[in-house]
Amino acid sequence: MTTDSTDWKSDLRQRGYRLTPQRQLVLEAVDALEHATPDEILVKVRKTASGVNISTVYRTLELLEELGLVSHAHLGHGAPTYHLADRHHHLHLVCRDCSGVIEADVEVAAEFTGKLRETFGFETDMKHFAIFGRCAECAAKAAAAETTVTAVTAVTTEK
Ligand SMILES: [Zn+2]
Ligand SMILES: [Zn+2]
Ligand SMILES: [Zn+2]
Repeated sequence: MTTDSTDWKSDLRQRGYRLTPQRQLVLEAVDALEHATPDEILVKVRKTASGVNISTVYRTLELLEELGLVSHAHLGHGAPTYHLADRHHHLHLVCRDCSGVIEADVEVAAEFTGKLRETFGFETDMKHFAIFGRCAECAAKAAAAETTVTAVTAVTTEK
């Protein structure tokens, strides 16, 4: 997927901000990397502009987030990861075993968020934090391992 960079430019200009080279580079890095931490964004930006430091990246991300161009999600215990805001309408299913991330449409949680709205009047943001568990592949592996363990235990206790 590609996003037209002229969208960002006109968007920023309309709100009275200039798309400085640094802002453009950070946006491009967020666009290209997806789920990138500020450190990863910095590495990418530095390939073009070696003078940029981490505090510039943080400040730029903060501004871009305030402007609604970029949003973040927490996929683990480390730094948040960044997305272009208009491409971030999914929730994240993170596998504890292989660290794989499945992006699921927020619609899959519609019933749940509907219930929270109904019961608590609460508007839930399912995109902000990841849901942890085990992906299908790792669950199958774990089940296979468990069967082996059970079989071994059964044999040993029989004696
Ligand atoms: Zn995502
Ligand atoms: Zn957050
Ligand atoms: Zn997995």
